[in-house]
Amino acid sequence: MLVSIGGIFVAFIVLYAIAATSFRALTTSASTDKAVIASQLIKDGLTSHMVSGSAQGREFFLRNIINTKNIEQLWVARAPSLIEQYGPGFNNEIPKDDIDTQVIQSGEPYHLLSENISHAKLRFTVPYKASTQGNPNCLACHNANEGETLGVVSMVFDITQARNESVLILFYIMGISVLVMVAVLWSIHYTFRPFMSLFDSITNVMKYAQRGDYSRRVDGSNTHSDGRQVALWINNFLDKLETSLQHIQKSAKDFFLFENHSNADPLLDTKSLVEQMADIYRFKKTIEFDEDKVQVYARLGTILEHYFGVQEFQLMETNAQTNTTTQVYSCLSTPHTLDTHCRALRTKQPVFSDQFERICPAEHTCEHYLCIPYTISDDVELLLYVASSKPEIMESIKTILPQIENFIDAARPELVSKNLTEILRLSSTTDQLTGLYNRKFLDDFIEKSSAQAMRSHFGYAILMLDIDFFKAVNDKHGHDVGDKAIQALSHVIKSSIRESDVAFRYGGEEFLILLYNCEVTKVDEIANTIRTTFAKQAIQGSSGKSFTKTLSIGYALFPHDAETIWRCIKFADVALYQAKETGRNKVVRFHLSMLGEGELNATYNPAPKNG
Ligand code: GH3
Ligand code: MG
Ligand code: MG
Repeated sequence: MLVSIGGIFVAFIVLYAIAATSFRALTTSASTDKAVIASQLIKDGLTSHMVSGSAQGREFFLRNIINTKNIEQLWVARAPSLIEQYGPGFNNEIPKDDIDTQVIQSGEPYHLLSENISHAKLRFTVPYKASTQGNPNCLACHNANEGETLGVVSMVFDITQARNESVLILFYIMGISVLVMVAVLWSIHYTFRPFMSLFDSITNVMKYAQRGDYSRRVDGSNTHSDGRQVALWINNFLDKLETSLQHIQKSAKDFFLFENHSNADPLLDTKSLVEQMADIYRFKKTIEFDEDKVQVYARLGTILEHYFGVQEFQLMETNAQTNTTTQVYSCLSTPHTLDTHCRALRTKQPVFSDQFERICPAEHTCEHYLCIPYTISDDVELLLYVASSKPEIMESIKTILPQIENFIDAARPELVSKNLTEILRLSSTTDQLTGLYNRKFLDDFIEKSSAQAMRSHFGYAILMLDIDFFKAVNDKHGHDVGDKAIQALSHVIKSSIRESDVAFRYGGEEFLILLYNCEVTKVDEIANTIRTTFAKQAIQGSSGKSFTKTLSIGYALFPHDAETIWRCIKFADVALYQAKETGRNKVVRFHLSMLGEGELNATYNPAPKNG
């Protein structure tokens, strides 16, 4: 608005300047024209008086002209050549100033406007030139050349009145135009004021909305009906926007951890919230079809690494029932190991390195770290450990912890269900008492592993174990003590074999071990280690007194001793029988010589399952 008024004002000023210049030029031009006419009249008058030779008439003529209005001065000046021929005349008509001399010399007319506040005067000097063309012929009387200046007529016109009249007209114009301008501005102001006030109100409301404050409303009370309608629409829209955003955020926050990151704009917050919910939904749908919890943990690790950009972290699962800790995802160059002093595990509370100096007694490697326990089920905890050498990275990770928790919350039901499936699968394949695989699993295992062993040319050493005189334990101490003895042997077996080896509870107190790709000398060594270690195990008897038991082992090598694993199992059993027969508490390797005629040609199939 101010710019428009300023523009109009400048336009008026320019207009006045042009008008003033034009008026001045007009006044000067009109005066000059008058001077030209007067000089021509004077010239003609002087010439006629010169021809008639009437000096008195000439003087009378000049005086009359001087008395003419606005002619202030009038004089005639003769050129030096004329003065030389006829003298300066009665009135001493010699050049009066430099201008006369200059015009006589140049033969060019001269005019000059000089003015101040009170006066405006026009000096005009025109030359008289000798000519043979006119009547009379100048050269008939004058000793002069054609075109030579014989003299000048100088006049001073008073044009003050004309100038003042122009200025007065200019002031009139100025006054009228100022009045017109004020009227136009007032009418614009009157017409547009309601719209301007509406526009100001909209601008103000939108300024706040831009910053995320949707609580302001447009004031349409000072405007026309159209403006009021516009204000109503905008206010209705803002109402809907504000209540919808509040509703979405409130509903989402009931089941979703969300930090307002933009801090100000609920629209941006809601956009971010919906995006996060969509990402979590996608994640949840994906892990539903994952094969097992290992895959779910791997996906969770990928989310942390690539979605949240966490660089150095590790995910660990602790199982209170099995008392085990498993690393399920790691981005650390040196894996972090948990010990019993882990504060987060003990307190089930997040631990941050900046909470207190050396807050966790189990952490010795990194200065800045955080350790957050997430409960997955009653027995299972997921531990997120993040380390960094830069404290600012830890600060930024703290801000995304609620979002990370959202993903873990989304994964929790899936982890629980996959954990249960795993437990069910294990319980159908493992023996309750010892935790070793059962006979049922032996059938599946042999089916898969024998083909693989043939392909890879690696074999198995098959060990059959049986506790010596076990019946006596039951008889003497009861069944429970017998069970303890069986458990003691299973622990000895577990601690004596490698991860690639598999142990089964084959029967009551009979165990089967498959040692994968094991050298013959090593087989003998492992079997004897199990035998001697078990022999030293103190088993608490029913009377409170401890006792020890021995065991016997027979083994055979697959595929060295037989072309099927089942046949080898039979041969290991034959070797075990041999061990029992020859004194017990010993390890016996199978040899063909141990077989009778019938056994040598017999085909051995899977043994009947008994548990
Ligand atoms: P040998 O030295 O010849 O092996 O003598 P043994 O007494 O150990 O004889 P055998 O291996 O035939 O004895 C098996 C006994 O193991 C019979 C049964 O009472 C007992 N038994 C089988 N399963 C279990 C079990 O789950 N718990 C307990 N406590 N005893 C079992
Ligand atoms: Mg036995
Ligand atoms: Mg037995």
